[in-house]
Amino acid sequence: MPWVPMFAKCVRRSILRSGEMSIFGSGGCELCEAARMSEWFYEDEECWIAECESCAVPMVVWREHDANPSEEVKTRLHEKLEKVVEEFFDFEMRIDNNMRTIPDHYHAHARPKGGFYGYGLRRAK
Ligand SMILES: [Zn+2]
Ligand SMILES: [Zn+2]
Repeated sequence: MPWVPMFAKCVRRSILRSGEMSIFGSGGCELCEAARMSEWFYEDEECWIAECESCAVPMVVWREHDANPSEEVKTRLHEKLEKVVEEFFDFEMRIDNNMRTIPDHYHAHARPKGGFYGYGLRRAK
């Protein structure tokens, strides 16, 4: 079977390929799984930042599988996210804290002001 790279997405995978084994079971957390395989803009001991495959904007993911980091942690994560936007993207950002589809694992998107998706906003190298 060919190796399929996995990307970070803010959506839960609803259908597992038949026969696929996941240590998280059918309610697997996409963010925990992606943490091991995604290409990252940034990482440190408390978070990682990758482009969300669904939204095409960077999102910061806390390394804890927990929905409620302290305000202090949140502030730090948001600052790191801002730096990534400055370096890799070309838009004025707002923090989107809404965890629509994975409400039990803290993550935040950096979205363009007045927008939602980041398609075409990645800086040319
Ligand atoms: Zn998780
Ligand atoms: Zn997303």
